[in-house]
Amino acid sequence: MVEVRGVHKRFGSHEVLRGIDLDVYPGEVTVVLGPSGSGKSTLLRTLNHLEKVDRGQISVDGGLIGYRRVGDRLYELREREILRQRTRIGFVFQNFHLFPHLTVLDNLTEAPVSALGLSRAEAVARADRLLERVGLADKRRAYPRQLSGGQQQRVAIARALALEPRLLLFDEPTSALDPELVGEVLDVIRDLAEQGTTMIVVTHEIGFAREVADTVVFMDEGRIVERGTPAEVLDRPRHERTRAFLSKVL
Ligand code: ADP
Ligand code: MG
Repeated sequence: MVEVRGVHKRFGSHEVLRGIDLDVYPGEVTVVLGPSGSGKSTLLRTLNHLEKVDRGQISVDGGLIGYRRVGDRLYELREREILRQRTRIGFVFQNFHLFPHLTVLDNLTEAPVSALGLSRAEAVARADRLLERVGLADKRRAYPRQLSGGQQQRVAIARALALEPRLLLFDEPTSALDPELVGEVLDVIRDLAEQGTTMIVVTHEIGFAREVADTVVFMDEGRIVERGTPAEVLDRPRHERTRAFLSKVL
């Protein structure tokens, strides 16, 4: 589902991604761990061309991200084509990023109507199904500010699902939540995993990684240092840097 090959990215003189290769298979959950500043968010953002890579290539679901290949040359896609690619890749942020002036229902129907061309009635039916699924059917008329952080994040997940993406990306989805609200969000993500949704989840929730991940990736200083099953990476890390990181978060 995801093929990252030789990706480099720098901001000024700081090389933030230093040759990333990553494969994610359909239906798999990949958890990305790593210290702050190691490039995790930047990597996620390159996957839907929110950041342009300096070198390397990324394919999602067979399509090259951000570029079209003509012969042996690459041409950057137009904004409209990039936006269309992004509709296939859901992104859930640490701080929810809901539209504050729209109700929960309108947060979920906006993109399916404007980007996918669904009728209002189809979009509402889809939104209601998804709100049911994340346990928030009774909040459809509420505004984001009237919800707890955990509820807002569940709305954000439902909103991402409303475009029926092929791939879901989560960037520290529980880091902004009070501890007692973390579980309800992880439960929704776990439920999606059980239903075979392909996901990449950046998180420091090691228990979640152990339970839900098919693959755990440890990043440090712009590189993937270690990759394997949860048991391999979390219980028998081969690299000192992985061990040092785990000893701090466990
Ligand atoms: P992580 O998510 O692992 O904490 P990030 O990908 O957010 O790491 O950041 C990696 C490094 O890149 C950090 O040093 C950060 O300050 C830097 N960085 C990220 N985005 C930008 C940007 N738009 N401009 C300049 N530096 C950036
Ligand atoms: Mg980050």
